[in-house]
Amino acid sequence: PISKRLKTIASFLSKGSYFLDIGSDHAYLPCYVCLNDLEARAIAGEVNEGPYQTSKQTVSKYGLSERIDVRLGDGLDIIGENDTPFELVIAGMGGTLIKQILEKGRLKQTEIKRIILQPNIDERDARVALLHLGYTITDEQLIKENGHIYEIIIADLLKNKKVEKWTDKELLLGKQLKKENGPLFIEKWQLERQVRTRILNQMKRAKKRNNEKIARFELELSWIEEVLD
Ligand code: SAM
Repeated sequence: PISKRLKTIASFLSKGSYFLDIGSDHAYLPCYVCLNDLEARAIAGEVNEGPYQTSKQTVSKYGLSERIDVRLGDGLDIIGENDTPFELVIAGMGGTLIKQILEKGRLKQTEIKRIILQPNIDERDARVALLHLGYTITDEQLIKENGHIYEIIIADLLKNKKVEKWTDKELLLGKQLKKENGPLFIEKWQLERQVRTRILNQMKRAKKRNNEKIARFELELSWIEEVLD
């Protein structure tokens, strides 16, 4: 049984997708998608030998080796000249790492129309990277599973679309999520407020105070307070 998180991510892929799953770990996502959509194909990338082997095992267990190509390599390096995937998933890692993978990658040579990201933390970095690459963030969703709230960000390569301006506040909170202001959004930021307040107090008590960092924390906390008001 696949997690609700991965199922939700899968729901944003198009029918008959040919997609990349970078940091695939067990290759659960590509296997689930390909078992449910007979036209779908995928390339699963893993930088670590262990998860790479596990991915290959899952894929062969389900008899999907013809449709899911498991490759060992760093981030988007595994894309070859002749590969034509048109969707990309990077899920279950920090936003900063996701940003590094996207920016260091060979995305420009390929025609990735849709990117689906699920950063565990630092979602802002994931958004910044998408906008830098010229993608438009078209959807944002929160889901809760096993006590965790996960953020899923969808971006599309839209022709003739002017690069959208996002404020710092929107990059932190998510433009659409902020607008919807749903129960999970409130829950997420209530929790963040607690954690950040505790960290801020520690920073203020520290012998060597980093005033710039404190000011930044206070600013972000004020944005969080605003949405919780
Ligand atoms: N994507 C799956 C999911 O969402 O359930 C697995 C997430 S798992 C926590 C993160 C995986 O990313 C690990 O298996 C790790 O080896 C892989 N990873 C980390 N950095 C990577 C990179 N630069 N390129 C490819 N894979 C990477």
